[in-house]
Amino acid sequence: MTSPIPPVPHGTTAAAGIDLAGRTAMVTGAGSGIGRACATALAAAGAHVHVVDVDAAAAGAVAESIGGRAHVVDLAQAAPIRELPAEVDILVNNAGLQYVAPLTEFPPDRFELLQRVMVHAPFLLLRRILPHMYGRGWGRVVNISSVHGLRASAYKAGYVTAKHALEGLSKVTAVEGAPHGVTSNCVNPGYVRTPLVERQIAAQAAAHDIDADRVVTEVMLGRSAVKRLIEPEEVAAAVLWLCGPHTAYITGASIPLDGGWTAA
Ligand code: NAD
Repeated sequence: MTSPIPPVPHGTTAAAGIDLAGRTAMVTGAGSGIGRACATALAAAGAHVHVVDVDAAAAGAVAESIGGRAHVVDLAQAAPIRELPAEVDILVNNAGLQYVAPLTEFPPDRFELLQRVMVHAPFLLLRRILPHMYGRGWGRVVNISSVHGLRASAYKAGYVTAKHALEGLSKVTAVEGAPHGVTSNCVNPGYVRTPLVERQIAAQAAAHDIDADRVVTEVMLGRSAVKRLIEPEEVAAAVLWLCGPHTAYITGASIPLDGGWTAA
């Protein structure tokens, strides 16, 4: 059954009432999907945006479209992270990737890669950027976690482990950052309509030995009360709200954008 709740139309933003003029943002994995939507929304609200991605063409295209600056960096490597700008007021830790396999067959190098991109890189970026935020007495850290930062699914050992670790890192950032005007939160989407999910449909079909349509209806939307994927622009709207004037008291929180998945 299709939900009567319409998704936010593609290309719209939720910048109304939020003025980020004079603020500098960094969005990792901003070349695609949720990161691109976040970079677009933050720029529409007036922020200057550093667009960080391993995909040079994608980063360049997004930076050009929003008047931002592209940085081509593989976040699995520590050294280039040290070259990224530290003068950042809003950090969106978004870059991520998925790998689907049973634990007994999960390749150790894939497990490690997921932790490097989704946990170690955010840690290194926080180490680098927090002194600037503390100096200004204001900062916003938004970590794109997942419903898999709150719940487990089979075959996702690397991803579920990384997102749970990101939840912990976010909470420590909130506790340490509070005296300096820095908030840190996670947003926790269910399945978002992005290339990451499109790739996953095929991988899940193979892992569960079912066809692609059944992956969407039974595996992806099976636990969601709202029977549709969430759009990247809807995630970006929540990220923008966390950077606005009404959310200074929200910190150390994890905000489910999961269509009721974790409520059930
Ligand atoms: P996506 O594949 O559309 O975009 C991810 C971006 O990250 C890509 O541009 C990619 O090039 C970049 N990236 C990947 N590895 C990188 C690396 N080593 N260095 C630099 N950049 C790298 O994916 P998406 O769906 O937009 O996912 C973005 C984030 O949202 C991820 O952290 C993901 O876990 C999270 N998330 C996604 C969903 C979903 O259903 N799509 C749900 C919950 C959470």
